[in-house]
Amino acid sequence: MTLILAASLLLLLLTLGYAGVCAVSPFGKCRKCNGLGFALATDRRGKPKRGKHCRRCNGHGIRIRTGRHLFNAWRDTYDRGTTPTTPNAPTVSPFTRTPGDRP
Ligand SMILES: [Zn+2]
Repeated sequence: MTLILAASLLLLLLTLGYAGVCAVSPFGKCRKCNGLGFALATDRRGKPKRGKHCRRCNGHGIRIRTGRHLFNAWRDTYDRGTTPTTPNAPTVSPFTRTPGDRP
């Protein structure tokens, strides 16, 4: 029983830790270019030089964390479902009759 409790506690701590990291630092380094924004190439003398532009991060060198991406998607869906499209717009049911409608 204590093993299951310890595993659950560890899982909870890991989840909360990752959520905290996503809240504090929503972006991480791009894994393809290692945060540089481009690939490293070498010239004929072996000296490193700027290579191709990173297409994955579009040259920014950062990527959004998966947890933050999921949180943003959830928040966008929640906002679209709860807030009206225009502020101070009267909510009209599609089933109410207006004077221009045909009988
Ligand atoms: Zn990159």
